[in-house]
Amino acid sequence: MSLAQQVFDAGVVGDGGAGFPTYKKLVTGPELLIIDAAECEPLLGSDKYLMRSSPADVVAGIEAVAAACQIPRAVIGIKAHYAREIAALEAAATRASLPIAFHRLDSFYPAGDEQILIFEVTGRTVPPGGLPADVGVLNMNVTTTANVARATRGEPVTRRYVTVTGAVAAPTIVDAPVGTTAADLIAAAGGVTTPEYVIVRGGPMMGKHHAAREAATLGYGKADGGLIVLSASHPLVQFMAKPVDRVLAETQSMCIQCRACTDLCPRYLIGHQLRPHRVMRAMQNGADEALADALLCCECGICELYACPMGLSPRQMNVLVKAQLRAAGASIADRSVHTGQTAERAYRRLPQSRLIERLGLTAYPTTIESLVRLDPETVRLPTRHGVGVAGRPCVAAGDQVSVGQVVAEVSPGEMGALVHASLTGRVTDVAPDHITIRREGGR
Ligand code: SF4
Ligand code: SF4
Repeated sequence: MSLAQQVFDAGVVGDGGAGFPTYKKLVTGPELLIIDAAECEPLLGSDKYLMRSSPADVVAGIEAVAAACQIPRAVIGIKAHYAREIAALEAAATRASLPIAFHRLDSFYPAGDEQILIFEVTGRTVPPGGLPADVGVLNMNVTTTANVARATRGEPVTRRYVTVTGAVAAPTIVDAPVGTTAADLIAAAGGVTTPEYVIVRGGPMMGKHHAAREAATLGYGKADGGLIVLSASHPLVQFMAKPVDRVLAETQSMCIQCRACTDLCPRYLIGHQLRPHRVMRAMQNGADEALADALLCCECGICELYACPMGLSPRQMNVLVKAQLRAAGASIADRSVHTGQTAERAYRRLPQSRLIERLGLTAYPTTIESLVRLDPETVRLPTRHGVGVAGRPCVAAGDQVSVGQVVAEVSPGEMGALVHASLTGRVTDVAPDHITIRREGGR
């Protein structure tokens, strides 16, 4: 059986955030495999825990991908100060069937962004709207790589590590079945320590904010590696809670066109013609030709959470404009790369420590050592785990299911991933976007 088929059968999706179906990436052509081991969102430690605990799986996944895609060498992009993780991977890599090098990164955000990491390792810019393969690279997250190794052993993705931190009693990594609710994850970390709170699903820069009342029904998916509890009064929560009409009104009245958002934009600094200050200006004066820049935005959040001295939200404007342009059928037209823009890059990368201070997160640990294995009574499995189509439920309420059984299907070739039961028990609820399973029998 091909590796792509094994990975499809196991329902592996990219763990770096977007949840891209991994089997779609497994094609020949690239000359270099780059593994993203940067884990760049502040406070998250799930990838680091995996690297320390399962380095052999990471290396086995690299070997499998390289063999299937005929890639002669691999580079692991990892922060230089992840000393224990580097040591664990180096020891495992000595027995590898291909050369595996380590590219030690400075500690900056967003070092793990696919295109930023490729630039760091190769000096090449993926063209706007292009793919890593355009510059001869296949890029894969480190947890995804371990899941590929497990797929070769016939093990589907039914569990994952989630970093649970912030305003909780005992921040920890949780080894949890896919679909574990936010409420159970928070309980595994000792419960909240603040009376009113918001749940950040993901990292503080790109994560989605959810009200506390959603905790019992918010099932964590295959690509959800972080849960941060923040007080409802935390500045980050207050900032993200602004209604869009207020954000728009502030854009139109307060942007001073200082260009700081553009000067610090990581995609601009690898040569893309993404100039958020022009989008902001266009929102003021209707210069429509500048709006197309928004299509290049990866929504990293630097412009709104760090760069802008006026507290404005270029990222949110880009999101708004992108949705409108895509609804109108627009696509990226300017695919040019401007290498002159990269000259200042080394001085404009955003140090992680400064970012944590700016976000008001210094009270929380940047390294987490503990692991809690969680076996909850119920899981609420999302049927979609990233880009592409949702899985189509193939079970009904009342059905008995076992761990690893397919409960939502996609067809081979479709942009999507199979979903497997993560508990042995009974299906209690089936909806287009989720399947609830209640435990029956042993753990
Ligand atoms: S940094 Fe803020 S004020 Fe300056 S151009 Fe960008 S949006 Fe406008
Ligand atoms: S969110 Fe802002 S800084 Fe990040 S890519 Fe988009 S425009 Fe650039």
